[in-house]
Amino acid sequence: MKNKNEKNYTIIVGCGRLGSTIATALSNEGKNVLIIDKNEDSFRKLSHAYSGQTLEGDATNFEVLQEAMVDKATFVIPVTHSDSTNIMIAQIAKEIFKVNNVIARLYDPERDIVYKELGIQTIYPAYLEAKNLLSCFFKEEEAAKDE
Ligand code: AMP
Repeated sequence: MKNKNEKNYTIIVGCGRLGSTIATALSNEGKNVLIIDKNEDSFRKLSHAYSGQTLEGDATNFEVLQEAMVDKATFVIPVTHSDSTNIMIAQIAKEIFKVNNVIARLYDPERDIVYKELGIQTIYPAYLEAKNLLSCFFKEEEAAKDE
């Protein structure tokens, strides 16, 4: 098991489809990663090749974050399906544990300015999907023009 004191320690919260994919990709890259989920069964979504750490617990709970050694993390990435959960974890990581890089998955972009002011980076899956879809659309449109 890798050491949480190592450089570039990344903590992901929520082992759903997105969280497990990010954790597996980082682990494949040889990164030092820990994924937290309140439901142990969720860790089954991780690939068999995952060599990072797992921690069962509710990441809105201060003691769980302490056990994860959030203060040592270079990145904290909360990606549950709940905006309020992700923002709460992001704020605790940023304000209390002084983590520099916090990236939260959010669905509702309405308060994006507030999050940016708090220094929390955000990703909106709907935007990413729209961007991907539009880039396919424009590629197809260009190809159709050339025919
Ligand atoms: P959900 O947001 O409930 O759809 O779940 C996405 C994943 O995040 C699931 O595997 C949940 O068990 C996990 N999850 C949701 N909330 C928390 C939390 N507060 N702490 C840790 N894991 C969570």
